[in-house]
Amino acid sequence: MSAAASEAIPLAGPVLGPEEEAGVLEVLRSGQLSLGPRVPAFERAFAGRLGVAHASAVSSGTAGLHLALRAVGVHDGDEVVTTPFSFVASANACLFERARPVFADIDPVTLNLDPQAAAAAVTPRTAALLPVHIFGYPADLPGFERLGLPIVEDACQALGAVHGDGVAVGARGHPAVFGFYANKQLTTGEGGMVTTADAAVKAQLDSERNQGRAPDMGWLDHDRLGFNYRLNDLACALGLAQLERLDGMLADRARVAGWYRDALAGLDGLGLPCPDAGGDRRGWFVFVVQVPADRDRDAVIRSLRERGVASKPYLPAIHLMSFYREAFGHHEGEFPVCEDVAARSVALPFFPRMTEGQVEQVAVALREVLGR
Ligand SMILES: *Cc1c(COP(=O)(O)O)cnc(C)c1O
Repeated sequence: MSAAASEAIPLAGPVLGPEEEAGVLEVLRSGQLSLGPRVPAFERAFAGRLGVAHASAVSSGTAGLHLALRAVGVHDGDEVVTTPFSFVASANACLFERARPVFADIDPVTLNLDPQAAAAAVTPRTAALLPVHIFGYPADLPGFERLGLPIVEDACQALGAVHGDGVAVGARGHPAVFGFYANKQLTTGEGGMVTTADAAVKAQLDSERNQGRAPDMGWLDHDRLGFNYRLNDLACALGLAQLERLDGMLADRARVAGWYRDALAGLDGLGLPCPDAGGDRRGWFVFVVQVPADRDRDAVIRSLRERGVASKPYLPAIHLMSFYREAFGHHEGEFPVCEDVAARSVALPFFPRMTEGQVEQVAVALREVLGR
């Protein structure tokens, strides 16, 4: 391994300390690893932080999306209008209910689902809209709310984001889904949370994550179909400790993003994340740039790796993935904005403990690779 490779700057890294260790150890020693007190404690703390009435902890963001779509009444044969520029989970979750994800193109600035394109994709079979707050930038929820359809928000990348009207992303009342995989703003290893303003939705989520059992039922009776999408107490203890340090971690991410902006300013033709506008505030999750149109993105990634910098194509367009091409006949040219952005996007190393020196190292490498 070359010196550069051995000192490679990783793409992501969680912040874990003695508080997380103590929280997990306490649960281990209590002997109650599941269905214990840490679950409602984490849910209450999370809902309180966002300013929303209810939250239900689940085993992953994907599980949360599945339950949230069921909660707004998405069924077999329905259509769900969503973005092709997302992690594949948002479209996959529709298929779990045999609903069809109907894609619409994205806004070239925010990279979020464009409400006008979404409106044009609505048909009599549309049962819900599924906007994604991509890269932590708030999707135009007021624009979607005007369409008058049920909404599920994929907020898995957007913890800490705030809408222009001052409401936290995830606190508008629609079921909104967060993810706690290790690269997210808050991690429980694997895990997720669904927020909602509706007590009946909360009750349905809680039942369906636990095999369809109602809260007052014993072991033997289940009054609806359910799943095992529970989050365990070890994970919830980790989540509680992470929530305590969330403000610090979000501020650290925002600071790293600021260093990147300064270090990459003037790099000709390089697309940077859009700045906050109209009062919307990004919850920083990744730092994704678009290489100039005349450059081979994958070659840029290889050259960065040779210089000790990890990076990845992020995100690929969902409709062009082989499964979606084969299952639905999707092809190039359907969503030109998404396809152009997806072909040029590169996620750079980005994590709360990244140093200014590391950001500088990435910027120097990118300048060399782009020859600018
Ligand atoms: C992380 C993520 C999810 C959920 O992922 P899980 O690994 O299931 O927790 C869903 N949608 C988006 C956009 C994501 O980034």
